[in-house]
Amino acid sequence: MKKNIYSILAILPFILVSCSKDAVEITDENSVVEDQSELVLQEIKNLGFSEKDIVDMGSYFLVGDDITFSKQGRPQLADKSGNQKQRRTTYLISDNTVGVRIDPSLPTNWKNATRDAMEHWNANSGSSVFLYETDYYWPYQGGFLFNPEIQVMNDNSDPLPNYVIAAAEFPTSDGMPGYRIRVNLSFNGCSVSNNLRFYNMIHEIGHCLTFAHTNSSFGSHIAGTPTSDASSVMNGGTACTLNSGLSTGDRTAVDTLYPLQINAPTNVQATHDGDEELEMTWNAVPGAVSYRVYNNIKESGKTGWYHYRNTTSNRYSRELKRKYRNGYRMRVTAIDANGNESKMTEANYSWQ
Ligand SMILES: [Zn+2]
Repeated sequence: MKKNIYSILAILPFILVSCSKDAVEITDENSVVEDQSELVLQEIKNLGFSEKDIVDMGSYFLVGDDITFSKQGRPQLADKSGNQKQRRTTYLISDNTVGVRIDPSLPTNWKNATRDAMEHWNANSGSSVFLYETDYYWPYQGGFLFNPEIQVMNDNSDPLPNYVIAAAEFPTSDGMPGYRIRVNLSFNGCSVSNNLRFYNMIHEIGHCLTFAHTNSSFGSHIAGTPTSDASSVMNGGTACTLNSGLSTGDRTAVDTLYPLQINAPTNVQATHDGDEELEMTWNAVPGAVSYRVYNNIKESGKTGWYHYRNTTSNRYSRELKRKYRNGYRMRVTAIDANGNESKMTEANYSWQ
């Protein structure tokens, strides 16, 4: 069974574990690890990074150009054979339909770059990865029940150095994608065009989905990808030079790790009778045992797509008063017997 797409995110303030310089310099492998940040540092070293390449940024460690490890944990383990090949980190995401929250405070050019990058990933037809925008949540058991799994935000609360354009985290052992992408609005490495924003965001999303740097020894090689790929969007050190999206080799990597399992519904029609009856129909998808209906709302504090209903037939109807139908949008996905979800298809609307 797939796990529920919702996850509970703690909203408690981020509490840093104090860590003295002395504690960090412990070299005896048998030393008792006394705090979480020390453990994270050790894990990064175990991946093959030397201490000089690991920058302590206070609440997180920065490695290479744009890979970050929260001191809260989420250490990554991977072997380090070979290099110059499409590479992955330890964990894969377990649900390939991924909710992305774009922080309202991000500038429009970065919001657009994020949306375009999500579409770029979604358009890769050989993979089931599908990213959808959502900011839907509600209070739940003392915390918040969130739909978004990745948050795209500025770096105000956890600043990046000005030579880093953006940074992302990797998936965790619970099968969740990297939980945030931080954008550095004071990046000063070069002048940043909208195309560069777009390509960098494709790259950062790749990290959240487990992809490491193609031109790095960190991570494990993905079978079937080329031995070197100068056009890989996942090459590191390319914040100012990226000029294309997913390369052929990148697509092989994505399609290998997250293969298309079930086709998306087609011919999705939504009709409204002009009174209060909404009906959706679509062509039955081979291999589908059920379908998920997604709704899109715009309310204060709740915007974007959210999983609304399941249905076992290829139709769905509900009451929807005419006065609420303006701007009303719906999408549907197909689910196979193993719980794999297809990409989303939005309805064609026919409002009477
Ligand atoms: Zn990177």
